[in-house]
Amino acid sequence: MSLAGIYIHIPYCKQKCHYCNFYSFASNNYRELFVDALLNEINLRKNFLGKEKINTVYFGGGTPSLLNIDELNKIIQHLGDVFDLSDETETTLEANPDDLNAEKIHDLKKHTPINRLSIGVQSFFDDDLLYLNRIHNSKHAIDSIENAIKAGFHNMTVDLIYGIPGLTEKKWRENLRIFFDFNIKHLSSYSLTVEPKTALNALINKNKIKNIVEEESIRHFEILQEESDKHAFIHYEISNFAREGHYSKHNSIYWLGGHYSGFGPSAHSFNGKTRQWNVSNMKQYVESDTVDKIVREKETLTIQQQYNEYVMTSLRTSWGCDTLHIKNVFGDSFVKLFEKEAEKHILNNKLLKTESVYKLSKQAKLFADGIASDFFVF
Ligand code: SF4
Repeated sequence: MSLAGIYIHIPYCKQKCHYCNFYSFASNNYRELFVDALLNEINLRKNFLGKEKINTVYFGGGTPSLLNIDELNKIIQHLGDVFDLSDETETTLEANPDDLNAEKIHDLKKHTPINRLSIGVQSFFDDDLLYLNRIHNSKHAIDSIENAIKAGFHNMTVDLIYGIPGLTEKKWRENLRIFFDFNIKHLSSYSLTVEPKTALNALINKNKIKNIVEEESIRHFEILQEESDKHAFIHYEISNFAREGHYSKHNSIYWLGGHYSGFGPSAHSFNGKTRQWNVSNMKQYVESDTVDKIVREKETLTIQQQYNEYVMTSLRTSWGCDTLHIKNVFGDSFVKLFEKEAEKHILNNKLLKTESVYKLSKQAKLFADGIASDFFVF
């Protein structure tokens, strides 16, 4: 049975972080129309996943913790009316530390079905948070985690960013120490990247702030691997680490080729055959009254695209890329192509092979996307 999930995109933020290239904005535009527009989209697009049972609901953004308890419950209640959700559904809320005061966390725990928190800490140091233009400070970061633990949230993950100019190895180790001392079972950690059209890109180009040094990011990644090993965390996806049994069910759906329906402006959906993207424009989104107006682009994946996607996502995970799966789904010709390309990566120690499964070696993990692209067929 395949896994299926729902993603809800909440594009509001209090302030735009310098590195951010998500569809999000620091204003309340159309705020009073937004939740009803979401419910309307859920009604309009309810058949996209057929009758599949829903295993996960994920509120991402943007900053979903800006929604109040009534709004969250209204959306979750509606999802329950429309989809087959169960009491075991993993329901995650992405939250910024400055929103998670004791009262809000208590209300989330007691008065909503949210059972997993993803806290966007990024760093426990104020100078890093300032560089990133995050709205919270290190005290908010610590307090939010303590509040969540006190309120009884046992299923939690924290985001940390490395490769920030000024983040020394000592500070990075300290960030990781603080995280591991909380005994939280899941960590997502990303290398800071400079995306086009972000404030970070503009500020670096104008020499207003320091640029990223690639060697430092690589060193931070090595430290991250070392520390997660020490704490018995499994590096189960390039940017994700967890104790056994604490993997993100929702994100695993993306990595294992499962199906998902995304609601909200800019959200993506995939049902095994079709992949589609919603319009990234709030005005158009709230004014849309048909699926065609909400969905901006739609594509049916060719067999080559499906193969490329499988190689790309599977090589990023600890499950690896299985040539038996390639044979069953794509046929022998794709296995031959894969094995031919794999030979050179095995010789230079980037790939490890156990029976039919190929995985990236520890040192190759930072270059996962580049290596995977060598296997692409067009
Ligand atoms: S809080 Fe998240 S979505 Fe909002 S601007 Fe910052 S990185 Fe982007």
